[in-house]
Amino acid sequence: EMHNTILDLKGAIRVFVRVRPAADEAQQSVRFCGSGALELQTGQGRTAGVTAFSFDRIFAPSAPQEEVFDEVSQLVQSAMDGYRVCIFAYGATGSGKTHTMIGGGGKERGVIPRSIDKLYARACELQQLHGWSIMLKATCLEVFCDELIDLLGDGPPAGKKHTISHGAGCVERRSVAATACNERSSRSHLVFALAVSASNCRTGQKMLGLLNLVDLAGSERLSKSGAASDRLKETQAINKSLSSLGDVIAALGSKAEHVPYRNSKLTWLLQPCLSADAKTLFIINISADSQAATQESLCSLRFGAKIN
Ligand code: ADP
Ligand code: MG
Repeated sequence: EMHNTILDLKGAIRVFVRVRPAADEAQQSVRFCGSGALELQTGQGRTAGVTAFSFDRIFAPSAPQEEVFDEVSQLVQSAMDGYRVCIFAYGATGSGKTHTMIGGGGKERGVIPRSIDKLYARACELQQLHGWSIMLKATCLEVFCDELIDLLGDGPPAGKKHTISHGAGCVERRSVAATACNERSSRSHLVFALAVSASNCRTGQKMLGLLNLVDLAGSERLSKSGAASDRLKETQAINKSLSSLGDVIAALGSKAEHVPYRNSKLTWLLQPCLSADAKTLFIINISADSQAATQESLCSLRFGAKIN
């Protein structure tokens, strides 16, 4: 096995930050200090201040999708080696979560389509060269107001099975997920899961890996989203599930005896992938724009710092 990225040097939880471009270059609120540290300028005039943060990796606005995937691809690949892996995009609405996880076409493709391609290609290789028989099963769930909605199948949340020979189906499924995600905008969590089950007829080995790719709901505060009553319940559900997620990660990080998985559907759903022997990565998305989102950026970076 090759080990050559920062991901191998740490324990189970890693935190990256990705900063999306500011609308106005002159209004930058973020200063980059090497590949792992940044300073956020907050407030104005007498209340102006600077808060410094360090993370495992920070992507500046110029970082293309390919560069982000290069840093996470080894983690993705480890699902093929039998690990349970979870990659989250966390941040306020408009900070670039969906761009990071789904993205656009061609070079703009995000982590989910690139992961499908990577695992599919690797599965083909293992099957052809090394006698493995591999099945990839895709599931795509939306968590909305603490309810689970299956975006792929008509059956129960297990989703539809499809074997590697039908891998092209992923292309169609990808667009389903993208559309559904845009419509609900940022008020739901999108959980895309790829289960890998492999057996080797030559050696008798069996292996089960799981990759969860999660585009979380916007982390902005209640007041910002407006207090309209129909939105209130949604916002409360989002706040509760995001804080439950933070609590679970914190419990895992501190090796606590009790991990509170049952406080939200999201953590309950992801429980198999959120354990001490699983691999977890958060990509905290913020905007470089000082007009739009400094307070939100601060909250998101603090969340990242707390779990790191
Ligand atoms: P979120 O899902 O967090 O609400 P989006 O991913 O929808 O945010 O991003 C908001 C807008 O900013 C979209 O138009 C998106 O294409 C653009 N955007 C986000 N991140 C980047 C980036 N790194 N580079 C260029 N454009 C980006
Ligand atoms: Mg989004």
